[in-house]
Amino acid sequence: MEKLEKLYEGKAKKLYATDDPDVLWVEYMNQATAGNGAKKAQIEGKGSLNNHITTVIFNLLKARGVKSHFIKRLSDTDQLVRTMHMYPLEIIMRNTAAGSFAKRYGVKEGTGLKRPVLEFCVKSDELGDPFINNDGIIALNLASDKELDEISRQARAVNKALSDIFSSIAVQLVDFKIEEGRTPDGEILLADEITPDTCRLWDLKDASGKIEHLDKDLFRRDLGNIIPAYEEIYDRLKTLAHAEGVATE
Ligand code: ADP
Ligand code: UDP
Repeated sequence: MEKLEKLYEGKAKKLYATDDPDVLWVEYMNQATAGNGAKKAQIEGKGSLNNHITTVIFNLLKARGVKSHFIKRLSDTDQLVRTMHMYPLEIIMRNTAAGSFAKRYGVKEGTGLKRPVLEFCVKSDELGDPFINNDGIIALNLASDKELDEISRQARAVNKALSDIFSSIAVQLVDFKIEEGRTPDGEILLADEITPDTCRLWDLKDASGKIEHLDKDLFRRDLGNIIPAYEEIYDRLKTLAHAEGVATE
């Protein structure tokens, strides 16, 4: 597979065309951002860790019947994915109150939720990713009624499978963000990445009683170095993948 021209450079990844129009080449960068790019840093090793982590997660999801755009990992920082037309949505699932949800409703971070909460935000750095409901998505033609039903069904299926994966490695899946897209032949699929940049992950092995973050909140909230935390997540996922006979590339 040949890497051709750069199509897009985002905050965390670069996308390149390949000699196959159905396949994109993704390069994971070391850049970390928070607050829609207001806070920025280069963190050595982050790109490689996220490329490895999302690879294992997409493979563990596949083993649980959840399909995605992922094709294969090529190197430490690069992977191939299926070309998708992306919905301009951040699809957020919450199992425990945290972050903007806890703030918005004035509940303590860590409060359990009676059932998972699915939320949507419009993907727009200029607008600060504003919250939108189902009617708004359809009214603005961001997705059709039918597409939104399928996106919601997949988001709940991802939550079920991902919760199973993380509980197997003693990690609480507090909340996460996914993105979905459509293949040229109209198949709606999970895309983008699933990493500690896009999930809140709390260590259940920690007995101190305080929250032990294994995710990007370490960076967002200046709580410490993300690298050892991301390495810990990768090590535990790798052990699970080996136990299940699931590939890590
Ligand atoms: P951002 O755009 O938010 O800064 P990234 O740096 O992670 O984020 O950029 C990756 C971009 O690639 C995102 O805009 C995402 O929607 C898009 N993307 C992810 N998977 C695919 C795919 N399979 N096909 C096309 N675009 C994709
Ligand atoms: N998230 C993300 N990208 C964003 C916003 C949120 O990956 O642009 C993830 C975040 O890591 C968390 C979940 O979505 O796992 C919910 O985030 P929240 O809405 O609480 O936002 P935050 O507190 O990060 O502003």
